[in-house]
Amino acid sequence: MNEIKPLETGPAKRRRSLTVSVGGVDVGGTAPIVVQSMTNTDTADAQGTADQVVRLAEAGSEIVRVTVNSEAAAQQVPRIRELLEAKGVSVPLVGDFHYNGHLLLTKYPDCAQVLDKYRINPGNVGFKEKRDRQFATMIEQAIEYGKPVRIGVNWGSLDADLMAKLMDENARRPKPLESQAVLRDALVTSAVQSAEHAVELGLPRDKIILSCKVSNVQDLIAVYTDLAARCDWPLHLGLTEAGMGSKGIVASTAALAVLLQQGIGDTIRISLTPEPGGDRTREVIVAQEILQSMGLRSFVPQIVACPGCGRTTSTVFQELANEIQGYVRAKMPEWGRLYEGVETMQVAVMGCIVNGPGESKHANIGISLPGTGEQPAAPVFVDGQKTVTLRGANIAAEFKQIVDDYVATKYPARAGK
Ligand code: SF4
Repeated sequence: MNEIKPLETGPAKRRRSLTVSVGGVDVGGTAPIVVQSMTNTDTADAQGTADQVVRLAEAGSEIVRVTVNSEAAAQQVPRIRELLEAKGVSVPLVGDFHYNGHLLLTKYPDCAQVLDKYRINPGNVGFKEKRDRQFATMIEQAIEYGKPVRIGVNWGSLDADLMAKLMDENARRPKPLESQAVLRDALVTSAVQSAEHAVELGLPRDKIILSCKVSNVQDLIAVYTDLAARCDWPLHLGLTEAGMGSKGIVASTAALAVLLQQGIGDTIRISLTPEPGGDRTREVIVAQEILQSMGLRSFVPQIVACPGCGRTTSTVFQELANEIQGYVRAKMPEWGRLYEGVETMQVAVMGCIVNGPGESKHANIGISLPGTGEQPAAPVFVDGQKTVTLRGANIAAEFKQIVDDYVATKYPARAGK
């Protein structure tokens, strides 16, 4: 008889030995993978930016980046921090600097001081001989204020001189590589060389995070696989310019899932283009959902809902699934403060008897709604056991009460609560 081998599941262990503290949030080493986001307000508008940072932090962003692109923006960064403190929000703030970063960081020391990390793109710090001088100035400011730096390379702004040099070297090979392979190599080389240069300038090794963002899924996987093998710095992961709606979500998830499964990635950002008037917090929720779906972290209880089919011809099932999902997310800030481990709860909302009872039994709490032609009854299962059958117009309210009671009795109170 053939021996049955247990299936191996789960992501590979992350192997970064360096841990970087960003305003008290650890990135790398054995720290949980951190969710980041970026504002899209004008940073010179301190109130508008602070309001958006609050929303992003409340949605679960553990680090928030703001662009610091002008003197007006740099002047307002300390005010943004004050406004956040007044609201009790202590999320670390990262300043995104490009061509004039060296000037802004030296001219506005309060800005340099209150930021928790500087993001520097070595392809966007200046041209020719100015580039090294301006890069060095920014690193010196990071050293002076004890701040970590993300050296973030982007293929839309790759160091043109480095690219030209690598292209020349490639042309001299007996069998030149495709230009796309040279481009990928240039990205990784730019990030690693810039980080080594920062270390030579005196920046401690545990003050550096690297990223190499591209907008194509297969290139991102190839680039980060190479980057992870060539250095030991924590890696910020994200598909840049992912796009709008489902396209952006699917492309980001496809790329990040492959890398995270290999143990690559210490902090992530989902670069979604919001719909006009859309909610910026969507990128935070998508990042959390990727990590939670992969079993890497837990943020909010998961709702398992069947897709529905010809057995769910009324909208009752969709409405209940939607209502429960919204309810659980709305209650989570309060539950999270009060109860230990509630974020790991699973709730099943199923459309009929075919898979309803079975799937409901696998969840902490499940409800199997009546499909078309079935008896108008909805059995509820708690920890695998059928406890009650709900009927009538109040099924949603009664089920929410059951969820509330379960949370209060199942999960231990947090210390001091
Ligand atoms: S559980 Fe029932 S309603 Fe839901 S998809 Fe399966 S058969 Fe259709």
